[in-house]
Amino acid sequence: MATVSREEVRTLLDLPLLPLLDKARAVHLAHHGDNEVQLCTLLSVKTGGCPEDCSYCPQSSHHDTAVGAERMLDVDQVIASARRAKDLGSTRFCMGAAWREVKDGPAFDRVVDMVRGVKDLGLEACATLGMLTGPQAERLKEAGLDAYNHNLDTSREAYRSIIKTRTYDDRLRTLQNVRSAGISVCCGGIIGMGEALEDRAELLRTLASLEPQPESVPINALVAVEGTPLADMPPVDPFDLVRMIAVARILMPKSRVRLSAGRSSLTREAQAMCLFAGANSIFYGEKLLTTANPEEAADLELLRTLGLTTLAPVADASGSPRHSEHACANKGAGCGHKHDHEHAHAHGEAVAE
Ligand code: SF4
Repeated sequence: MATVSREEVRTLLDLPLLPLLDKARAVHLAHHGDNEVQLCTLLSVKTGGCPEDCSYCPQSSHHDTAVGAERMLDVDQVIASARRAKDLGSTRFCMGAAWREVKDGPAFDRVVDMVRGVKDLGLEACATLGMLTGPQAERLKEAGLDAYNHNLDTSREAYRSIIKTRTYDDRLRTLQNVRSAGISVCCGGIIGMGEALEDRAELLRTLASLEPQPESVPINALVAVEGTPLADMPPVDPFDLVRMIAVARILMPKSRVRLSAGRSSLTREAQAMCLFAGANSIFYGEKLLTTANPEEAADLELLRTLGLTTLAPVADASGSPRHSEHACANKGAGCGHKHDHEHAHAHGEAVAE
C-alpha cells in the first residue's frame, strides 16, 4: 500500500460507522472472500514476575496484582496444551513468556524445544518472548517458528506514558530482527488506555507503514486489571473496537486482523460486527495468558451462526493435510465439504501468512 498519512487514517476513523463498514467490507471481500476465521490459542509458558512496567499488564513485577511469578512450564506440559488446542480446532499455537528480552541459556533452549514440538503436531508456531536479537530470531526460525508477536501497543507519543522501561525504537528493532530471520510478524495494539484518537490513528499508520505490513494484526481492547495503573480506565466502547478493526482492514488488506483481548466483555452481536468489519482471526481457548476469554463452544456456535468457517489446519510434517472434525464452524450447518482431507483443500490448507 502507498504511504498513508496520519490525517488520512484519522479521516477514516472519523467516518460514520456504516459508511466505514461498507468500505472495510469491500476490502475484506476482495482479499478474504473465503470467510475463514483463524483460531489461535495463546498459552503463557512463563507467567508473571516480568521486569517491564507495561501499565496494562498484570504480569509486571512493578504492579501489585493477583498474578504472581510462576516457574516456566515444561516442554511436555506445553505440548500437551498444544495437542488439546489442536483437537479443539486451533491451527496456530502461540507461546508467551513474561520476559523483557530473551536471554541465551536453558530457558531459551526450552522455548526452542517447545517450538519444535508444536511444529511436530502440524500446528503453526508463534511466540511472544519480549525483545529478540538477530541470532536468537534465526535460532527460532531454524526450529520452525512461523510467527513472532511483538505489539507496538499505541502511538510513539503515547508509548512513553504506558511503558517506561523500553522505547518504541526497541520495539521496532525486534520487529526488524524477526523480519530479517524470515519469520512472519504479528504486531498490533491496544485501545482503551486513555489514548487520544490521534494516537489510534498514528498506531494504525505506523503498522500500515511497516514494510512489508505485518501478516497478523491483533487489535486489543484493554482488560483493566486490578492492581495495574490502568485498573480504573472506563470500558472500551465496542463501536470504537469495530472502528479500529475496520480501518486496520482497509489499511492492511492482506493481513489477518485478530480480534484479541477484551473479547469476553463483548456481546455476541458486537463480536459479529468486529468480524463483519474485517477481523478474520480470534484467540481461541478459555484463557488469554492470564485473563478470561470466551469458551470454545460459544465461539464455534457464533461462527456457525454467522456462516463463517475456520481456517483449515496446516499440513503435517509428512505433507498430509490435517483437519480436525471440530474445526469447521459450518459442520452440520450447510458446509458442503466433507470433513476430511477434501475439506482441508477446499478451505485452503496453505495458511502460511
Ligand atoms: S513485557 Fe509483556 S509480560 Fe512484561 S509487563 Fe510488558 S506486557 Fe507484561
